[in-house]
Amino acid sequence: LVVLKNVNKHFGALHVLQDIDLTIARGEVVVVIGPSGSGKSTLCRAINRLEGIDSGSITLDGKPLPAEGKELARLRADVGMVFQSFNLFAHKTVLENVTLGQIKVRKKSKAEAEERARALLDRVGVGTQADKYPAQLSGGQQQRVAIARALAMEPKVMLFDEPTSALDPEMINEVLEVMQQLARDGMTMVVVTHEMGFARSAANRVVFMADGQIVEQATPEKFFTAPRSDRAKDFLSKIL
Ligand code: ATP
Ligand code: MG
Repeated sequence: LVVLKNVNKHFGALHVLQDIDLTIARGEVVVVIGPSGSGKSTLCRAINRLEGIDSGSITLDGKPLPAEGKELARLRADVGMVFQSFNLFAHKTVLENVTLGQIKVRKKSKAEAEERARALLDRVGVGTQADKYPAQLSGGQQQRVAIARALAMEPKVMLFDEPTSALDPEMINEVLEVMQQLARDGMTMVVVTHEMGFARSAANRVVFMADGQIVEQATPEKFFTAPRSDRAKDFLSKIL
């Protein structure tokens, strides 16, 4: 579904993505882990073109990512993204947050968009919060709204960049449970996370990055019990 071939990206002198080859199959859940600064966020951002790349190619459904205009807006809808910092529209209600893109990008009627929004808000457990503003919600609730907003666009793939890192501990599980359910429902997902429990139970594949490179990838079972590279062994010894 998503194919990265020989992708390179620099920030000035920093080679932040180095010859990245990665294929994400439909329905696959790929968890990306690695030390801070290894390029995980940049990788996610490149897949929905929040960052351009210097060389190589990224395709979605066999087509190169569009660079601008309506096509780019559609790409951002096809590739849903959930950030650490929720990024909801602060001056819009929860319901408006989840209907806006459907109306603007997917050309749904207001009624249709609201019906879908309410169903999704129920599904992620915040159906009763529809008329509130983001600031009136807990972090866990805001993040679940952000997930509903991305899902409302009927994405082909969902990218999660440390979706629980900004949350108080008691709210982490409510978000992870929504993500687990999404994975079980067959959503194609790329998840950057430090939640190793989630990686073990939900991932089909773990991708370990360090210094802008994919150092190794394996099933979670293999990766956590028998990492091959010294970098991965070192990383795991620090976090497990
Ligand atoms: P973390 O675990 O801390 O989120 P990460 O693996 O997501 O780290 P990235 O955010 O992808 O890492 O950043 C990789 C490197 O690129 C870092 O050294 C970072 O400082 C640098 N970087 C990221 N964005 C920019 C930018 N817009 N301009 C310049 N340098 C950047
Ligand atoms: Mg990051």
